[in-house]
Amino acid sequence: MADLPYATCPYNKEHRIWKLRMPSHIMKCSKSYKGPPLAICKYNATHRVPPSAMEDHLEECSDKQLFHSYEIGQIAL
Ligand SMILES: [Zn+2]
Ligand SMILES: [Zn+2]
Repeated sequence: MADLPYATCPYNKEHRIWKLRMPSHIMKCSKSYKGPPLAICKYNATHRVPPSAMEDHLEECSDKQLFHSYEIGQIAL
């Protein structure tokens, strides 16, 4: 239940998007988005959070671990 392949669109909480479709959805949705600008997470380009909340987001980003293990994997090769 916790690992459904769906995520909530950062631009509209009403949008439940299949994770694999999120990058293209975000491209479309960001064009019609009228709210305050959102900053892009450096661990996952589909994470958009208000710039003031980015520091907290990076601390607890679900892709942080993934990002680092990928880096370590590259070094090990
Ligand atoms: Zn959307
Ligand atoms: Zn993130």
